[in-house]
Amino acid sequence: MLDLAIVGGGPAGLTAGLYATRGGLKNVVMYEQGMPGGAITQSSEVENYPGVCEVVTGMELMECWPKQAMRFGLKHEMEKVERIKRNEDGTFTLELASGKTEQAKAVIVATGSTPKRAGFEGEEEFIGKGVSTCATCDGFFYKGKEVAVVGGGDTALEEALYLANIVEKVYLIHRRDKFRAAPSTVERVMNNPKIELILNAKVKKVYGDQSGVQGVIIDQEGKEIDLKVPGVFVFVGMNVNNEVLKQEDGSFLCDVNEWGEVKVDLKMRTSVPGLYAAGDVREDAAKQVVCAAGDGAAAAIDVISYIEKMGE
Ligand code: FAD
Ligand code: NAP
Repeated sequence: MLDLAIVGGGPAGLTAGLYATRGGLKNVVMYEQGMPGGAITQSSEVENYPGVCEVVTGMELMECWPKQAMRFGLKHEMEKVERIKRNEDGTFTLELASGKTEQAKAVIVATGSTPKRAGFEGEEEFIGKGVSTCATCDGFFYKGKEVAVVGGGDTALEEALYLANIVEKVYLIHRRDKFRAAPSTVERVMNNPKIELILNAKVKKVYGDQSGVQGVIIDQEGKEIDLKVPGVFVFVGMNVNNEVLKQEDGSFLCDVNEWGEVKVDLKMRTSVPGLYAAGDVREDAAKQVVCAAGDGAAAAIDVISYIEKMGE
């Protein structure tokens, strides 16, 4: 029986592994379906991780994290976890994609979230090279320039407002003429002189070269618009990676909110004792590396006392 199973090897999972093993837990396995590092390894420029002064790629930022965590005994299994179940005695069973199962006294779910794609030509090709899904991460690179934002929900409009504080101008492209976002947010967007709305419009493609995006072609009710912008921010919804919590009957193992984000308290405890969620998968996550790492540490620190109490 493992003391702790961590599902996901991004900043949250790796930091949880570091704190759990350095804090004395002996039998800790981190299940990561790919190489450890997480979503940030897709980024070509990171400049907001505290203590790292120079601009680095996500790969460079994460290079040392697994090495550091494994120094204290964290084990990495390159496996996808299909499902987590709770046993009658309060421990957990992990069902792995390979068909194996594993038992653990506590589990930290750190599976992250995945931005949805809008589906236009060039979107995938230019992700991290001008197409972004994170204004906090990449907005600053466009200081003094013009950018496009795609989407009409709360995220798109809030991020458009955030970007308007940094960049010269924001073109907000939405496929309808009604927004999903809260009316007060819509009003703030309408009243912002730096945001221009392009409604009933569909992005056909982004184009550019090796150095990145140079523009975006939009179809607005049959009229073609060529916007020469170096940055296109896509906010068309998020998929929370919560599948591991789904039970056979379709319910979730612990409480989640209406968007499928895992509800936690300040120690990252879910509604089920011994089950934790950390990083982008949890409710109200700031979706930043530093925050995911903080969550992982907080969860692991609490797991240590949870397991101590189990043994009493
Ligand atoms: P993730 O990093 O998403 O890690 C989750 C891991 O879990 C993944 O490696 C995944 O493979 C694994 N996993 C999922 N399901 C399973 C399963 N069932 N079994 C096994 N493994 C599983 N943040 C910043 O602070 N600064 C930035 O500049 C920045 N730029 C970004 C640029 C891009 C292009 C992207 C996509 C994100 C950026 N972010 C940035 C956000 C940052 O990457 C995330 O907030 C952070 O990675 C969240 O960490 P996490 O550990 O919660 O999840
Ligand atoms: P969302 O509400 O699902 O909105 C997605 C937006 O993207 C919609 O306007 C949708 O258009 C558009 N869209 C979807 N697919 C598209 C495509 N392929 N091409 C072009 N446009 C596309 O997602 P979200 O904004 O990320 O918000 C998710 C949830 O979190 C929402 O319930 C939201 O209220 C909540 N949230 C709340 C706050 C807050 O309360 N402050 C902040 C952020 C998010 P249509 O409108 O035409 O469908």
